[in-house]
Amino acid sequence: MAAVSLTIEPSRPLPAALPEEDAASLIPLDMHPPIDLAEDYEHFIAQITRYLKAEEVAQVKAAYQFAEAAHRGQYRASGEPYVSHPLAVAETLAHWRLDAQALAAALLHDVMEDARIAKEELAQRFGRVTAELVDGVSKLDRIEHQSIAEAQAENLRKMLLAMAQDVRVILIKLADRLHNMRTIDAMRPEKRRRIARETLEIYAPIANRLGLNSLYRELQDLAFRALYPLRYRVLARAVRAARGNRREGMSKVLDAIKQRLPEWRIEGEVVGREKHLYGIYCKMREKRLSFAQVLDIYGVRIIVEDVPACYLALGAMHGLFKPVPGKFKDYIALPKANGYQSLHTTLIGPFGMPIEVQIRTRAMHHVAESGVAAHWLYKEDATLSELHKTTHRWLQSLLDLQRATPDSTEFLEQVKLDLFPGEVFVFTPAGHIISLRRGATAVDFAYAVHTDIGNRCIACKINNEHMPLRTELKNGDQVEIITAPNAAPNPNWLSFVKTGKARAQIRHFLKTRQEESSAALGEQLLAKALASLGHRLEELGTAAWNRFLATFSGKTPREVFTEIGLGKRLPQVVARRLLDGAAPGAQAPLVGGAIRIKSSQDLAMQLARCCRPIPGDAIVGVTVPGQGLSIHTLDCPNLKGARAQGGNRQWVDVEWDAETVGPFDVAIRVVAENRPGVLARIAHAIAMHDSNIIDVHMDTADGGTTTALHFTLQVTGRLHLARILKNLRRLPNVMRIARVKGERAHPR
Ligand code: MN
Repeated sequence: MAAVSLTIEPSRPLPAALPEEDAASLIPLDMHPPIDLAEDYEHFIAQITRYLKAEEVAQVKAAYQFAEAAHRGQYRASGEPYVSHPLAVAETLAHWRLDAQALAAALLHDVMEDARIAKEELAQRFGRVTAELVDGVSKLDRIEHQSIAEAQAENLRKMLLAMAQDVRVILIKLADRLHNMRTIDAMRPEKRRRIARETLEIYAPIANRLGLNSLYRELQDLAFRALYPLRYRVLARAVRAARGNRREGMSKVLDAIKQRLPEWRIEGEVVGREKHLYGIYCKMREKRLSFAQVLDIYGVRIIVEDVPACYLALGAMHGLFKPVPGKFKDYIALPKANGYQSLHTTLIGPFGMPIEVQIRTRAMHHVAESGVAAHWLYKEDATLSELHKTTHRWLQSLLDLQRATPDSTEFLEQVKLDLFPGEVFVFTPAGHIISLRRGATAVDFAYAVHTDIGNRCIACKINNEHMPLRTELKNGDQVEIITAPNAAPNPNWLSFVKTGKARAQIRHFLKTRQEESSAALGEQLLAKALASLGHRLEELGTAAWNRFLATFSGKTPREVFTEIGLGKRLPQVVARRLLDGAAPGAQAPLVGGAIRIKSSQDLAMQLARCCRPIPGDAIVGVTVPGQGLSIHTLDCPNLKGARAQGGNRQWVDVEWDAETVGPFDVAIRVVAENRPGVLARIAHAIAMHDSNIIDVHMDTADGGTTTALHFTLQVTGRLHLARILKNLRRLPNVMRIARVKGERAHPR
C-alpha cells in the first residue's frame, strides 16, 4: 500500500548507541517483509546474544521451544503460525535490551490464556519471576454476566496492579499491543475499532506516562489509521506532498544553525524533525488550524554534550533568530512527570516562519525516546535514577488509588484522567516541586503532598495570600496548606477536585465517616426502641446477639447499627427480635432520651431542605429508608401532609445539643421597595451580623414597584437569625420580612 508506506518521522534519529540492525523494530507495518519464522528467530537470537550471557540465551531459547510447542496448530488471524506473535513481542523487548526473564515471559505471554498452561508449570520450568510476569499480562477468566466494558476494566485493573509490582509487566504488554496494532488489518472491523480505541485511551497514554515516546507515537499513528482510515490516508498524502516544498526552507534553517553552533564553541548534533500524523491531526482539531498552518512550523532538535551547553546553545539560537516571547519552556529545571527534559523555544526564522527548537543532552534524549525502558538500554545513565523515582511514585499512587476505589470501572476512569497530564508545576513552602494535572486546585495539591494533609486541610495560602481552597493553581505558584487536627473533607470538594487521588481519598473518607455516624445513630435508635420495651441495650447478652446475628448472615452488631442508622432496618423490629426468648426485662418502659443533633455536617442525618431547621426550632426526626434520619421543624407544612397520610414512616424524638456546631442554612424572604442599591444595603446589613449569604434570588412584583428577595443565609441558630431580622426591619425601603418554611428556598 503506497499511501502509508513512508516512515512518519523520517528524520527521527535512532539512539546513537544502537547498532544499525535495530532499526527494524522502528519501521511501520507496511514495510515489514512477509514473515519468515526461522529467519526472524535467528535474527532475534543473534540480537540477544550480543548482550546476554550464554546461559541466559539458553533460557530464552527454552522458553521459545516451549511456546512453539504450546501454540502448535494455532494460527493468527493473518494465517501465520501463532508463535510468530510472541516472537515479535520478544524482539521489541530485545530492542530495549530487556533481561532474560522478561524475554522468556514475552515468549510465553499467551500460553496461560491460549494454551491453558498453568502458572505453576511455568514457575517450575522458568522460575517464579517469569511466571509472575506472564500472569501479570494474562487476562482474568471471563466472569459470567460481565459486560465487555466491565471485563475490560477488571483486566486493566489487574494489569496495572501487576505493573506496580514490576514495571516489566507493562513493557511486555505494550510490546504485545504494538505488534497487535501493527497486524490489526487482519482483525474483524468491529474488534479493530475496539482495540484501536483502547490503544488511544489507555496504552498510548501509559507509554507516554512512562516516557516511551517512540512507542507512544507509533501506537497513536497505528490507532489513528485503524479508527479513521480515510483521514489518515488524506493526511499522509498531504504530508508527503508538503515535504518536498519544505525541504529547501528546512535546509536553510539547519545550515544557519549548524554554522552558528561552532562559532559559540558548542559541539552538537542538529536534526530536523517532523510531527507524527496523529500529532498533526490533534493540533488541527484542538487549535482549529489548517493543514498548511500546522505544517508551516519547522521543528529542529539540537543534541549537545552537557547541561551548560544546553543553555549556551539556547543563547546562540536566540542570537541567531528572534525568539517568540512567552514560548520558552525550561523542562530541564522542571522535568515533566514522565522524566522528559529539554529546553523548548520558538524562533522567527527567515520569511517569518516559526521554528520550534528542542535542546537537550544525549542522556536526556535517551530518556525522551525510550523513557523507563532506557533503564535497561543505558544502565550507566545518571538522569535515569530520578526517572525511576518518579515512575515508582506514579505506580505507588495507582496502588493508593485502587485501594480507595473498589469499583473497577470507576478506577479505570480515574486512571484515564491521570494519564492525560497537561501539567502545572507548583511549589511547597520548602521549595519542593509538585506536578499536578492542569486545572488542579489547592485541595488536589494538599492530597498530592499527603493524604492526611488533604483530609485535614481547612485553608490555603497561594503566593502568601489567603485564597479559597477551590482556587485553580497556576505554574510556579507557591502553595501553603493550613490544616487543623479535627478537620474533615467537605463533600463539596468533589465538585471541583481534578486529580484521581484527591477524588478517591475524599470519597473514601466520607464513606467511612458516614458509616461511623450511621452506626452511632443506629445504636441510639436501637437503645431507644429497647428502652420502650423495658430493656437496656448494654444489658443485652451475647446469647441474644448471636441468636439474632445467626439469622442475618453473620453480620456484626455494628453492621446492624449502621443499617438501622441508614434507615434500612426498623429499630423496633430489631429490638423485638433481639428480645425473642430473652429473660423478661423491667416491666415498666424505660424513658429513652431524644437523639441529639449537634452539627449540620453529621452525615447520618440531614436537615430537611424544605423547612431548614436551625438550633432553637422545635424539631422532629423522620427516618428515610437508605438515607438515614431527616430532621424537620415541628411545624413544617410538608410534614403535616405526611403525618395525615400516615404511612410507614418512623418518627423519632430529636432535640438540639446544648452546644451545636454551625453554620446552619436558613431561608428568608424580604419584600422591599424597588430602589437602586436596595440589595446592596440589605446584603451589607446581613454581613454586619457575621452571616454569609450563600444564595440570593429576586423577583419583581406589583409592576416593578416592589421586589422580593429570597436569601439563603448561614446562621448559628434562632437567636442569631432574630438579631439579623430585627436589624433588617429597621432599614428604609424594607416592607416585609419572613422566614420561609415548607417550600424550596428559591423557586428556580
Ligand atoms: Mn499477545
